[in-house]
Amino acid sequence: SAKEQGMELNRFAHAMQMKAQERLQLENDLRKALDRGQFYLVYQPQVNLQSGLVVGMEALVRWQHPQRGSVSPADFIPLAEESGLIVPLGEWVLREACAQNKQWQEAGYRKLCVSVNLSMRQFRHSHLLDNINGILKETGLEPVWLELEITESMTFDKDRSFEQLRKIKEIGVHISIDDFGTGYSSLHYLKDLPIDRLKIDRSFVNEVMEDSNNAAIVSTITSMAHHLQLKVTAEGVENEDQMVFLRNQHCHEAQGYFFSKPIKAAEFEKQFLRDVDK
Ligand code: C2E
Ligand code: CA
Ligand code: CA
Ligand code: CA
Repeated sequence: SAKEQGMELNRFAHAMQMKAQERLQLENDLRKALDRGQFYLVYQPQVNLQSGLVVGMEALVRWQHPQRGSVSPADFIPLAEESGLIVPLGEWVLREACAQNKQWQEAGYRKLCVSVNLSMRQFRHSHLLDNINGILKETGLEPVWLELEITESMTFDKDRSFEQLRKIKEIGVHISIDDFGTGYSSLHYLKDLPIDRLKIDRSFVNEVMEDSNNAAIVSTITSMAHHLQLKVTAEGVENEDQMVFLRNQHCHEAQGYFFSKPIKAAEFEKQFLRDVDK
């Protein structure tokens, strides 16, 4: 009936309002979280498939919310991006990751490269270069031990992104294209982009053994990367079969639960740095 429909609509409006309120609440909490020290980083090892050695790690942010517990970055990164909070948060992540990497190097462990994700707003921000330079100086980390991950969609504005990437490369920091294959990169300008690495999205890697289309995509991206003289990393490697397939394709590096989930710094040090050949 019309009355039932009206009630249904009401419930819907109410649910929407709740969603909006909850969102607002989360955004308020997010605003305070940085000052209150509720963020921390976890690290996921990146393994060279020929040598089997850990050669790097990706830093991923976590938010320990006082009531909600651990909030997924999938939930708060978009919110931080929309509200602009991603700029100070991203700067904190970069500083923390560089400081940690430098600390491990000072401890005498074999040197690794740390990868940090950049969001669109951060990448476009006019202070990005100053921030990177400042943080490298402050922490003492040499630029070659830092890699910044951007996504294909961030390179749409060709002239602007070229200029920004060129300046980052000039510092000596590496750049990789994250989630490669899920965006709409024009191959025409991929060949000219000043980047070092493609990271094959985990959606292709996940079912590489079950779906021959995925296998074809993975091997095509890998061989293209070789031809363009780019490094290539496979994300989301969850089992040995996938790892062997990738190694046979001459994919350089891999990352995924097969090697390790992202873990806290102390745990990473224990598992992948301490007592491992220096
Ligand atoms: P991403 O950059 O593509 O990071 C990889 C995600 O895949 C991580 O999720 C990681 O935990 C997950 N993962 C790694 N190996 C496997 C695997 O074998 N199987 C499966 N199913 N998943 C795997 P996480 O940590 O939840 O991060 C989600 C996304 O949030 C990231 O995707 C990234 O886009 C964003 N993010 C995380 N930290 C930061 C940050 O500090 N800054 C920015 N701008 N974005 C971040
Ligand atoms: Ca990433
Ligand atoms: Ca990714
Ligand atoms: Ca992603």
